[in-house]
Amino acid sequence: MATDIPELMSTKDVPEWGDAADVIVVGFGVAGACAAIAAAETGADVLLLERATASGGTTALCAGQIYLGGGTPVQEATGIIDDVAEMIRYIEAVTPEPDSEKIRLYCEGSVAHFSWLESLGVPFERSFYAGKAVYQPGTEGLMWTGNELTWPFREQAKPAPRGHKVAAPGETGGAELMRILTKHIESLPIRVQYETTVRNLVADADGHVVGVHVRRLSDGPAFLRAGSVVLAAGGFVVNTEMIAAYTPRLVSGFMPLGTPGDDGLGIRLGQSAGGVPIHMEGAFMTAAFYPPPQMLNGIIVNEAGHRFVAEDSYHGRTAGAVLEQPNARAYLILDAETTAWPEIPLAPFIDGWESIDEMELALGIPPGNLATTLDDYNTSAAKGDDPDFHKHPDWLKPLDAGPWAAFDLSLGKAAYVGFTLGGLRTSPDGEVLTAGGPVPGLYAAGACASNIAQDCSGYASGTCVGEGSFFGRRAGRHAAASVRVG
Ligand SMILES: Cc1cc2nc3c(=O)[nH]c(=O)nc-3n(C[C@H](O)[C@H](O)[C@H](O)COP(=O)(O)OP(=O)(O)OC[C@H]3O[C@@H](n4cnc5c(N)ncnc54)[C@H](O)[C@@H]3O)c2cc1C
Repeated sequence: MATDIPELMSTKDVPEWGDAADVIVVGFGVAGACAAIAAAETGADVLLLERATASGGTTALCAGQIYLGGGTPVQEATGIIDDVAEMIRYIEAVTPEPDSEKIRLYCEGSVAHFSWLESLGVPFERSFYAGKAVYQPGTEGLMWTGNELTWPFREQAKPAPRGHKVAAPGETGGAELMRILTKHIESLPIRVQYETTVRNLVADADGHVVGVHVRRLSDGPAFLRAGSVVLAAGGFVVNTEMIAAYTPRLVSGFMPLGTPGDDGLGIRLGQSAGGVPIHMEGAFMTAAFYPPPQMLNGIIVNEAGHRFVAEDSYHGRTAGAVLEQPNARAYLILDAETTAWPEIPLAPFIDGWESIDEMELALGIPPGNLATTLDDYNTSAAKGDDPDFHKHPDWLKPLDAGPWAAFDLSLGKAAYVGFTLGGLRTSPDGEVLTAGGPVPGLYAAGACASNIAQDCSGYASGTCVGEGSFFGRRAGRHAAASVRVG
């Protein structure tokens, strides 16, 4: 593992070309699968290269949530009213540096993209899970997966749930998605080579990417010629040196969520041809303390005993806020009527106390601070109000029935997990961009590109697979078209 940029090889370094294709796609997760299918749909000859022994990548580990909206068939069938303009407004509001053109295309194309996925055989149940959870517990097709109901966003865009999940139980949606996409690819004239790692890009004298240098487990190195190359090779969460260099927030206290393929090689290949990585500091991080949703009735305080986040935020937004607190320390406080046990015990139970004084002492909070925070909160909550953080009235309940309990959300105590969101700067068609414009013949999509998701404060579950499939598809189509034109 390293931050090293692989050498950009020249056609002069190629002793002999092996295989050739109009479009070579690097990586067989959701972005690569969608790029390959889209390129093949145009009639292009496609070669899909995957370093592992099977398809799937990190996508196969994921829950299979896909953030789509604007009136999808699942939204319509379950009585959810959504429209493209509200979806655009919402994503713009939660994104630190929104790319308005990409957001517009994504939202306007969302319903058609849903239909395309269904046309490939990806199933979505016409059902809505109304509870607050990290993912749908069953095969339900739709759920709230972002901060749409959280202040200030609920005032900036009309809220609608947009977390569509592939119809598979619980968190197995990603595996089912990849099983179906793989089966579909096997029915198309797309050639797939497993155990084939792309080590270098090959460019001609004009800087046009015209092939790849690979190492195959079976027969060693080879040069493969391509009209265009689409990098869809995942993120960099398991590359400790890249994490230290770009995403220091993920350095300690986190379990990386990903596969060995998330070593950032896709991004570094792009850099070798002049590509520029952006939003590399951005990460998804979480140690979700719900479900059960009852936990959202609690308050979260830092080591000074002060609140700092609306507790009903999406779990990744809450985690991001915790990590910004002094010593990344925070506690979830509940009373006798609201205490429950987390379904997945990521935040450990610390203890219960008969009085607030005892709790302050045990947690090391300056005397009186937590008592004041609770008094203020309880007074407002009794009136259905939260003037400080605007927690939704559904979760406002005075915490005045002792004994009180605390769960530890601090980094190093709670089981934090994370993955990276930064990647190569690309055009809406997936062209890898340098400061001066596109690198001819080179595309990127999925976790090795930066499209919509930028940071955990605004992340909604489903955005990665959503943008990976959507912009992967656009990249595949454009890569195929540019071959014919060129
Ligand atoms: C536990 C978990 C749950 C998640 N849940 C969700 C969710 O529900 N919804 C959501 O939107 N996001 C979710 N995410 C994030 C999401 O899964 C990923 O961001 C997304 O799947 C990445 O897709 P991809 O196609 O870009 O990469 P991948 O699926 O990782 O595919 C990349 C492929 O490229 C291959 N590869 C890498 N380098 C090379 C090379 N040099 N040569 C050849 N092949 C190479 C890899 O082996 C891999 O197979 C979750 C992540 C995790 C870990």
